Amino acid sequence: MRPVSKGNAPVGVVFMKYRESFDYLLDRIGIGEYRNIKLAQYCSYCERVIPTNLAVEHIEPKKGAYAQPQLENSWTNFLLACVNCNSKKGSKRIQFNMLYLPDRDNTFHAFEYRHNGEVYPSSTLNNAQKAIAVNTINLVGLNEPIDTDVDGVAKDRRTQRLNAMALALDSLEDLKTAPQNQTIQNLIVKGMLTSGYFSIWMAVFNGYPSIRQLFIDSIRGTRQSGCFDANGNVLHPHPNPDNLQLGGKI
Ligand SMILES: [Zn+2]
Repeated sequence: MRPVSKGNAPVGVVFMKYRESFDYLLDRIGIGEYRNIKLAQYCSYCERVIPTNLAVEHIEPKKGAYAQPQLENSWTNFLLACVNCNSKKGSKRIQFNMLYLPDRDNTFHAFEYRHNGEVYPSSTLNNAQKAIAVNTINLVGLNEPIDTDVDGVAKDRRTQRLNAMALALDSLEDLKTAPQNQTIQNLIVKGMLTSGYFSIWMAVFNGYPSIRQLFIDSIRGTRQSGCFDANGNVLHPHPNPDNLQLGGKI
């Protein structure tokens, strides 16, 4: 899960209508671009490319038993989510001390994407941290079992993860044939942007700092998170530059 910083609220703390925040969210944390060409936009949770129907996501729900209606139009309560993550999350209760969220925690450090297409807590976490990471995975159903999948969403997300993993691994082999070749490097960045799954590509290109730097700088809000150093290494905890509630837990 790609960590981000949204920056200060663009129009004061509260919008007239929450949908008015969408373009700002895209501009701050959603767009992946190569040489100023906007190639894709991504769900804040599952990291998929979402060409249409990407939505303003209310971290704390606006309806239901755990609703926080006073935050319906509040910038601090927004991320971008696909229809599937949004519907799996629904109006579940949000306890910030029990979740890792990409606008306030180093969610790249918190998760691992394995070769079976599943998302796991990072092996470097302690047991308490792993429990929080699992809560987050369950919040949006990232590992929903395929055999109980009623709407094809789990299958889609896992299959797309596997495809991105395969493309990233194949691209790594290309790079190994000519590590200094600028054209290959550019193609790899475009591959990452158009296939989505920033975290998978970052993991596959571990040990290739110049490539990781290009990844970090090509999706809005990622560099600004403060979760990566000048060599593309992970810095944690998230420095929480936006001063969000219970941010910087990891
Ligand atoms: Zn999603």
